[in-house]
Amino acid sequence: MKKWVYYFGDGKAEGAAGMKELLGGKGAGLAEMTNLKISVPPGFTISTEACVEYYRRGKTYPPGMWEQALQALKRVEKSMGMGFGDPANPLLVSVRSGARASMPGMMDTVLNVGLTPRTVEGLAAKTKNDRFAQDSYRRFIAMYGSIVMGLEREHFEHLLKRKKQEMGAVHDTDLDAKALADLVVQFKALVKKETGQDFPDDPVMQLRLAVNAVFSSWYGARAVTYRKLYNIPDTWGTAVNIVAMVFGNMGETSGTGVAFTRNPATGEASLFGECLLNAQGEDVVAGIRTPLPVKALGEALPQAYKELVKTQRILENHYRDMLDLEFTIQEGKLYMLQTRVGKRTGIAAVRIAADLVKAKVIDKKEALSRIGPEQLAQYLYPIFDPAAEAKQSAIGKGLPAGPGAAAGKIALHPDRAVAMQAKGERVVLVRQETSPDDIHGMNAALGFLTARGGMTSHAAVVARQMGKVCVAGCDAVEVLDGTTVKIGPQTFREGDSLSINGSTGSVYAGDVPVVESEVIQVIQKKLTSAQSEKYQLFATVLKWADEFRTLKVRSNADIPEQANIARGFGAEGIGLCRTEHMFFADDRIPIMQQMILARTSEEREKFLAQLLPLQKQDFVGLYREMKGFPVTIRLLDPPLHEFLPKREDLMVEIARLELSDKPEDKARIPEKQRLLARVEELHEFNPMLGLRGCRLGITMPEITRMQARAIVEAACDLAREGTKIVPEIMIPLVGMVSEMKAQKDLIKEVAEETMKARGVKLSYLVGTMIELPRAAVTARRIAEEAEFFSFGTNDLTQTTYGFSRDDASKFVGFYKDKNILETDPFAVLDREGVGAVMKMAIAEGRVTRPDIKLGICGEHGGEPSSVEFCHQLGLNYVSCSPYRVPIARLAAAQAAIAADPPEGKAAKTGRVTARTRRPTRPAKPSRKPARRRR
Ligand code: PEP
Ligand code: MG
Repeated sequence: MKKWVYYFGDGKAEGAAGMKELLGGKGAGLAEMTNLKISVPPGFTISTEACVEYYRRGKTYPPGMWEQALQALKRVEKSMGMGFGDPANPLLVSVRSGARASMPGMMDTVLNVGLTPRTVEGLAAKTKNDRFAQDSYRRFIAMYGSIVMGLEREHFEHLLKRKKQEMGAVHDTDLDAKALADLVVQFKALVKKETGQDFPDDPVMQLRLAVNAVFSSWYGARAVTYRKLYNIPDTWGTAVNIVAMVFGNMGETSGTGVAFTRNPATGEASLFGECLLNAQGEDVVAGIRTPLPVKALGEALPQAYKELVKTQRILENHYRDMLDLEFTIQEGKLYMLQTRVGKRTGIAAVRIAADLVKAKVIDKKEALSRIGPEQLAQYLYPIFDPAAEAKQSAIGKGLPAGPGAAAGKIALHPDRAVAMQAKGERVVLVRQETSPDDIHGMNAALGFLTARGGMTSHAAVVARQMGKVCVAGCDAVEVLDGTTVKIGPQTFREGDSLSINGSTGSVYAGDVPVVESEVIQVIQKKLTSAQSEKYQLFATVLKWADEFRTLKVRSNADIPEQANIARGFGAEGIGLCRTEHMFFADDRIPIMQQMILARTSEEREKFLAQLLPLQKQDFVGLYREMKGFPVTIRLLDPPLHEFLPKREDLMVEIARLELSDKPEDKARIPEKQRLLARVEELHEFNPMLGLRGCRLGITMPEITRMQARAIVEAACDLAREGTKIVPEIMIPLVGMVSEMKAQKDLIKEVAEETMKARGVKLSYLVGTMIELPRAAVTARRIAEEAEFFSFGTNDLTQTTYGFSRDDASKFVGFYKDKNILETDPFAVLDREGVGAVMKMAIAEGRVTRPDIKLGICGEHGGEPSSVEFCHQLGLNYVSCSPYRVPIARLAAAQAAIAADPPEGKAAKTGRVTARTRRPTRPAKPSRKPARRRR
């Protein structure tokens, strides 16, 4: 007969910590604590397999399960010296859910199962406490009535409130036995009225229905949503824990609480938590009474507190990690009801890991595996003061598109954002959606809130590149006009205060206090590292990561300021400089536009000659910041129309000029008309597949010549200064070796010419991005010319799937909901499809050039699960936006460690390591912003 039920009690359990998959987190923890001889009430766990089987059999128990449960119940009775349903000495039990991954509050629990009109009398007589017995009974009816019998909890709450008013009671604890007994009668009448059934008085029936209710809660709406959110498979099922009740509501020497062995917000090594005297667990959670800090037990119940401190030490030493505990004290005696590895903030995760290494409890590898790479972001972004945020209630919720916290005054237009910032205001830019034209306002704002747009929207990508806070696609936002916006129930005028949490997507009215990231301050040299303990912890953990990782981490950076931040975060070079961004600056865009308007190559060259020194100056700046680390510069890539004004805007402007009486306005009309004609000429139906990438440099070779000259001249200048630079010149969107050759020949010619003219000899590489399936398939040929490959996985995902990167957000969410896609492939690299294309390119490229340098510079380069895949592919480096460099460093170390897992106790205690965690919140790629002024 298959074993479905696992007993624990009297210092011995059939389960253990490593059996989380079978017993759930709670069941495994109870078993482990029992084996450790910690004071745990006896009980038993019905396995997750039983739950899975229950559903497979159309909601009937697998053969033998119930019999095994009743046998285990007998053992509990024996251990407690009590009888389930015995009026003289009644045993009561709790029935609790417990999946293998913690799903806090998502499933159901029923306490005090076994109370009947007869056993309640027995309980009162035995405890000589009639009030306690009646209190337990009324709690049981309310809990069972709502969870098992499906009544609204509010009905019971309403009767309780009425009773308290009637009796002039402030707290539940002010009600006496008689009042509580009245409530029991009222509650039962309510059940009868609402369900047409009597409240069950058979304890075994109560137990059976409670077990069914816990099984059913696995498919409750809350649990299903939670699982979707955290990628927990439906197939896991929940275990059910049936444990002898101990009572925290037996008077002032009893109580209940939850505690963490260390502070889960800061990581500080001291017992942290809350408790309530004379209460049951539900009172702590319901927030009806304000709990006391757990340390207050030291005064109230010193013996039990001493025991708690001792127990938490034993448990932490055993699990070698910060734990989350639940306990009850019954008449001065401590019982542990739960232990599990505690959830913590990123700030705490780093601190705890570092402290445990210092205390020699874990080694560096294990420490690194315990920190979610995305959690590091919490060190980089300003955050809301946690206490202040806890007091807020959100007026809207959008996508957590740019982590961190921003609070300030609302600006509804980018120009006003700039003006407000100039006056020293903190600004939150609120827009229906942002566009490249908003960039100045975005720069001036601390954060952006948009009504529309997904994780790949302009606002989202700009936020990440700039390190700004962003909540995108918040349905509650409705921009009414230029000066007012409605957010949820409230209407705001420009200048009113607003706060947005880009880590959770929550939007709050008012100015919630923000705490600045110390790490950024150190990098910007506003603080010294010695002044910031946070920075020291952050840097220590990343130094350890560097000891293990084999992948290099570079940054995508276009201007020296970004390169500077990237270096501060430890980037080992630039993997992608998108040169087009340099042409969007105010002093350059008019020249660029003239260049595009030019009809002949000679005319184009005239304007390119003006751009050359500016472009060169940019490269000098980048090289200087990178101090000899490699710098990959990509030649012009976007369709040219992106540099020109929008057709509709031009038409409006021309109409306006035509209406004007001023002669100077009239004089500007021909120029605008010429521009409009060129914009129309350049219009493409499918710009993504049009005149872009290397096709630009091939059809207009003078552009490539200018850029190659600027790159090499800048490197020559640096060489003269004594800094050796090996520029890596990258050709975008190559699909044929002939394209690669045409551009490479041109670059070589210019480079040789330039070096000769400067009297400097330097090395440089010419390579390509792999962004098209054809490039991957013919990589063997392309590598005849290309000296390196860098995977442009934004375009490669687009071209492999045939999903437009600008439009995919319209259906990717839907696909995810319908389980057609597991994750957004623009965020988390698709190993099966795009990954296979990459594998082919690598294998083929290496046939021609066995040691070809390989990197990735698509947005995936900063996403942990994609970084792991890049490690497995054997790439030399990943390149990501500056603020993701630390995340990539840790992810790369974890990938290396995962390939060579640490031996040790972690496996035994059944820990979920970073490796087994789901891919974290994605990076946010987008075509448009990648092109535009940022
Ligand atoms: C890419 O396509 O992955 C890439 C890095 O280039 P861009 O995003 O500029 O198209
Ligand atoms: Mg690309």
